[in-house]
Amino acid sequence: MPINVTKSSLPPFEEYIDEIRSIWETKWLTNMGEKHSQFEKELEAYLGVPHVSLFTNGHLALEMAFEVLRLTGEVITTPFTFVSTTHAITRKGLTPVFCDISPKDYTMDVTKIESLITEKTTAIVPVHVYGNVCDVYEIDRIAKKYNLKVIYDAAHAFGVSLNGQGIGGFGDMSMFSFHATKVFNSIEGGAITFANEQYKSQLYQIKNFGITSPESVIFAGGNGKMNEFSAAMGICNIRYINENIKKREEIVERYKDWLLDVPGIELLQAQEGVVSNYAYLPVLFKESEFGKTRDEVHAALEKEQIIARKYFYPLTNSFECYNGRFSSNETPVAQFVADRILTLPLYAELELQDVDRICSIVLEK
Ligand SMILES: *Cc1c(COP(=O)(O)O)cnc(C)c1O
Repeated sequence: MPINVTKSSLPPFEEYIDEIRSIWETKWLTNMGEKHSQFEKELEAYLGVPHVSLFTNGHLALEMAFEVLRLTGEVITTPFTFVSTTHAITRKGLTPVFCDISPKDYTMDVTKIESLITEKTTAIVPVHVYGNVCDVYEIDRIAKKYNLKVIYDAAHAFGVSLNGQGIGGFGDMSMFSFHATKVFNSIEGGAITFANEQYKSQLYQIKNFGITSPESVIFAGGNGKMNEFSAAMGICNIRYINENIKKREEIVERYKDWLLDVPGIELLQAQEGVVSNYAYLPVLFKESEFGKTRDEVHAALEKEQIIARKYFYPLTNSFECYNGRFSSNETPVAQFVADRILTLPLYAELELQDVDRICSIVLEK
């Protein structure tokens, strides 16, 4: 059996069927139904955030958050992320200004933010990449000083907390993704979390065409509504999330047993005060000490039908679709990491003996 980098978590089949049965009685399939509001409430409790607004997916949620916050001009962000973060910025007519990352945890290097701020800057869009927490306190200080909005891409950070606070409570807004491949899924889905109550109605309206009543449309909103079947999947999956994260932790521990002290291999360090969700297992290979390149390890695994992924290579500031508008030379640390990083398979159902097999292939000389 081939091993993929991830495998979607599903609840027991009968449990999902039980959950969606009531949809056949109400015939209410979407447009903020019962499942939708129940799921929002459960997420507020689980994520430890004041407010949650559900969306069709994380990407659209991010675009709509930018609209609600009326961003213009330049946005400081990271190139070491999934394409979605950068595309959301450019698709809203904003200019991404790329900040380099910290070699320690691959999140935005906060010491480099201030030098990138111009009179056109309106926001910072950092990413809690791999579920690693950004330096939220320093980002908050900078944002206040320059009057900037902060929108976190927390797509990888479901269930993560810092010093006892849910990670979605920092900044003006945070975006979570519930895509099938993430730690927690609602098939497709996403959410914006926020503390300021005034955003509640604006987020509601923007995902529902700007409609405020049957005869009143106050602006040109889009369609970002989560349907009842997705919400039902979310309601089922949230019952298993703690158990799944625990299993992920055991798998990560097994990987560490094999890889922690190997010369030329770097693993993520635990962050102080952070409760992790063990979302990914990125491994950085330094050829000079390890003896093999990342690409060689990737190919050796592929030969055994084990699919590791080069997350996040290439950097988003070197994508061809941006026609040379940006350059990865401006973010040398991100470039260094992107050239050497490999994300190994990690999901709740992965067997420990598969981890053993994966690691022996990785370490083969
Ligand atoms: C998955 C992901 C997104 C997009 O989320 P979707 O729900 O797939 O639209 C955005 N940013 C990052 C970092 C992601 O990993």
